Amino acid sequence: MRAHLGLGSNEGERQQALRAARSALERRGLHVVASSSVYETAAQGEVLDQGDFLNACIAVETGMEPEELLDLCQDVERELGRRRHGVRHGPRPIDVDVLLMGDLEHASERLTLPHPEVTTRRFVLEPLLEIDPCLTLPDGTGLWALLDSVRDQRVERAGRF
Ligand code: ADP
Ligand code: MG
Repeated sequence: MRAHLGLGSNEGERQQALRAARSALERRGLHVVASSSVYETAAQGEVLDQGDFLNACIAVETGMEPEELLDLCQDVERELGRRRHGVRHGPRPIDVDVLLMGDLEHASERLTLPHPEVTTRRFVLEPLLEIDPCLTLPDGTGLWALLDSVRDQRVERAGRF
């Protein structure tokens, strides 16, 4: 199944962290089929007093179950030095989120699919659409149709990783 993962970093060598996360995911058996550009954004959410984020998305091909894929993403976060300090959207050397897994919908304590940020964050929508302009939500809504509602969020394309 095709899945889309979101990578983010706002501490340390951010671009290097995105690359390291992609390599670590591949080392653990994920087949990466596409990588977006890198997008720079000011922090959003509860903690505004922190460094700007670099965000990117990758498309992977996997036979894993949704929570298995989340486990793998969290293993990679730990491997790259992420400590959980309980602050959602707080500073982190690396964040690896499961954004979409095909048309799958999932709602458990640990995992919500699609990731809620897919419909609300420009730094998620832009790189996803760059990889696949025809991407849709499970209900058939085209992601391109959501872009208008997030235009006021500033994101800047910052090369590749
Ligand atoms: P952020 O929301 O800023 O990415 P964290 O990375 O700390 O915050 O994630 C907090 C929790 O979100 C994780 O412990 C994880 O169980 C949960 N979560 C729910 N849905 C998802 C998803 N689709 N991808 C990644 N984590 C998710
Ligand atoms: Mg996360």
